[in-house]
Parts: sequence; structure tokens; C-alpha cells
Amino acid sequence: MLGYLFRWLPAGESMNIPAIAKNTFELLRNQPEFMNITESVVEHLNKIKSKLEKARFVHNVVDECNKEVFAHPLLKEFVPCKAGCSGCCHTQVSVTEDEAELLLHNIDEGVVIDYNRLSLQSEVGNEAADFYKLSYKERACVFLDENGACKVYKDRPSVCRTNAVVGEASQCDTSTQAQGPLRLVKTPKADMAIVAAFAVAPSGTLPVMLSKVLKERNASEDIGFFKTIFDRFTGRKPVPKDTRL
Ligand code: SF4
Repeated sequence: MLGYLFRWLPAGESMNIPAIAKNTFELLRNQPEFMNITESVVEHLNKIKSKLEKARFVHNVVDECNKEVFAHPLLKEFVPCKAGCSGCCHTQVSVTEDEAELLLHNIDEGVVIDYNRLSLQSEVGNEAADFYKLSYKERACVFLDENGACKVYKDRPSVCRTNAVVGEASQCDTSTQAQGPLRLVKTPKADMAIVAAFAVAPSGTLPVMLSKVLKERNASEDIGFFKTIFDRFTGRKPVPKDTRL
């Protein structure tokens, strides 16, 4: 049924699907219990029109899948992740276009970001090797506040929702060294949902996709602005609301 999805996944053709989710998918795609999650998320996404709703739908599925995993008493003991610990927010995060639109919506609602840092991060593109050439400070996610908390926590991307390390928080610290192997909590069901989201929407790193949707929105506003000026100079009057088709 989802033949187009399978064609996306062989090596080299899916650089923006988060690597962990992609590996999980490759391992579990033949198990109906897991593949059903990917299929039903794709089917649902194809029925939703609004990009914000699509992103929120995937986030709800991911949270629901993770509930059981993160409720395990052993994880409570061995996962050191907590507010203010922001090592993973200095790494490369992939998002879908729907998620980028949701982040833009947060900016529209008043969340303030550093546009210079966004520009710097988006200029390096999607390649991880280029991203990690930036300094630790320059790699900080534009949604990270001065206390190390996420300004868009409720609407944070799917990938951020599955990041949980087991053992020492220092494993995630990339301030002095490149990120080595991490012992992460396995979130197989959430990964299957994430693959579905990335299979049906354009995607890239958070800075690249956020810049893209910002530019597209600004361009459409500019067209509206210039059209108003043009109409004014050519003497065209706005069409009264009640006579519009
Ligand atoms: S969106 Fe939030 S949780 Fe995700 S990397 Fe940025 S600051 Fe961290």
C-alpha cells in the first residue's frame, strides 16, 4: 500500500529522515504491530489540510507512543534529562515543513529568536559535518532561552520529544568534543510515526526549514504589500467585501 514510502528509504535517498527513526524503521518494517503505526499516520496526515494540525497530530502520536516507555520506573532512575540541561539542543535537529510552520506560528505568537544565529545556522545547510564546524555557542537552537529551557516546549519537534539519554548527561555535551556514541532510550513506536511524518512532507534541519518558511511567508507578504501600492498608483480601488466572489 505504501510503496512510495519504501522507495524513499534505501540508503542515500532520505538524508532528512532522522537517522535513529530511519534505522528503527528498517529493523521493524516487517512487523505488522509497528508498520501499522507508520501506515495509519501517513493515512491520517493525508486527510488533514492544515500544516499546524498535521504537526500537532504527529506530536500527539509521538507523545502517546512514548508515554509507556518513559513511565518505566527504571528510566526514572537512569535518565538524567531535566529542564536546563540543553546538550541535545546544541546538536542538529531535523524537522518537517509542517513542524517548521508550527515553529513559525510560535514566533508569530510572540516567541523571540536570534535571527543572526538562525541565518548562520541555515547557511551551513543540512550537512551535519558543516553544522559541527560552528562553535558550541553558535550551534545553540534558536528556541533555547538563557536558562537552557525550550521556548516552544509544547510545540517542540518530534525529534526533541524522543531524545532521552541513559546514564550520564555529560555524554550529550558537545562543547569540547564531537558527539560520540550515546546510550539513548529506545522509542520504537514513536520512531515509526516520525518516519511517516518525514515521508509525506519536505524536511531538513530546523534552521534550514524555519528560514525557508519565514522567507516564503515574507515573500507572500511583500507581494501583498506591492500589490496594494500598485493598486494605489494605478487608481484601482479595493473591491468592497460584499461584492467579492
Ligand atoms: S526546539 Fe526546543 S527542545 Fe528542540 S532543540 Fe530547540 S530548544 Fe531544544
